[in-house]
Amino acid sequence: MIDAVLPTYNRAPLAFDRGEGAWAITADGTRYLDLGAGIAVNALGHANPDLVAALTAQAGRIWHVSNLYQIPQQQALAQALVDATFADTVFVTNSGTEAAELAIKMVRKYWHDAGDEGRIEIVTFEGAFHGRSTGAIAAAGSEKMTRGYGPLMPGFRQVPWGDMDALRAAVSDRTAAVMVEPVQGEGGIRPIPDDELRAIRALCDETGALLVLDEVQCGMGRTGRLFAHEWAGIAPDIMMVAKGIGGGFPLGAVLATERAAAGMTAGTHGSTYGGNPLACAVGTRVMEIISDPAFLAEVNRKGALFRQRLEGLVAARPDVFEGVRGSGLMLGLKCRVAPGDVVQAGYAEHLLTVPAADNVLRLLPPLTITDDEIAEAVARLDRAAARVDAAAAA
Ligand code: PLP
Repeated sequence: MIDAVLPTYNRAPLAFDRGEGAWAITADGTRYLDLGAGIAVNALGHANPDLVAALTAQAGRIWHVSNLYQIPQQQALAQALVDATFADTVFVTNSGTEAAELAIKMVRKYWHDAGDEGRIEIVTFEGAFHGRSTGAIAAAGSEKMTRGYGPLMPGFRQVPWGDMDALRAAVSDRTAAVMVEPVQGEGGIRPIPDDELRAIRALCDETGALLVLDEVQCGMGRTGRLFAHEWAGIAPDIMMVAKGIGGGFPLGAVLATERAAAGMTAGTHGSTYGGNPLACAVGTRVMEIISDPAFLAEVNRKGALFRQRLEGLVAARPDVFEGVRGSGLMLGLKCRVAPGDVVQAGYAEHLLTVPAADNVLRLLPPLTITDDEIAEAVARLDRAAARVDAAAAA
């Protein structure tokens, strides 16, 4: 008999009752060190007192009014994002997928209003992930996500990951946009090198294609800058944000330049919940904390420390791990075994990690993780790897 919850996930037999910082705790009090952070969501840790205060203060006032009215909390969040980034304007969503949908619509509207409505092709890299809506799966294009769902939304073209020659060959003055993650998350913590991201920006400038960056997973301080593209010194035309921006409360956003967003006038897009006071009160507090240069400097320092320890782990467990990738606190361990085996062994060591494509184990701890917790994480990873080694030998 089918489960009451539609069984689209293979869930671990674990349930968490509460959390504290980098720890997720079961009802019987067992503490798991959380290097998944709800898949890069709990950027400021579980039950962060600042966020609990922001949420509960708003919860006692008003939860929801709809976008028929002014929403000061939404205005504050949008202003904070505009002040901190390339963007001139922001649409607030409830998730990354919704942000991806709007980004795609915005690209199409831009070319429609430019009198070129046939210019719809968006070029992406293989391994991309933008969510599970019909538009987002068409954009990502992988067999796993699209099989069984009939004709896909047209207008996407994919080139092999990181293949700049293929990208150059695919992008022309008929291309509507290039849409990429500066660091692929689900694709296996694969960063686009800074010089290549600059070359992609230049290619867009040459052809007129819009540059859409998906920073749903790699944004909000995860790589040690507020947004990952800042490392390359470039700016997109449109950007999707979600996950970390809500610190665990469902929240996303599309950021855009005035030029890219010019067609998005009243009535062209909407959302009942998007930009509600609860989510935006939390998001504004998250922005205040993460955009502080001192906070980001700590992410870089801790990222370097974690990386250095992980290099040691790779050297000590060469049968299990092959290398470290990523930046800041968006790290991946390339595995010589199935990463799911290390995730499973991690459960036995009370450690939470997330597998990704390309045989990579993702490490996405809360950005507030401490040095001691990083040391503890590496010790637990080492013991998990020993379990995998022992199982292979048995
Ligand atoms: N884009 C990227 C890069 C993601 O990693 C994800 C989720 O993993 C999404 C979009 C979709 O976001 P959501 O699951 O919030 O809809």
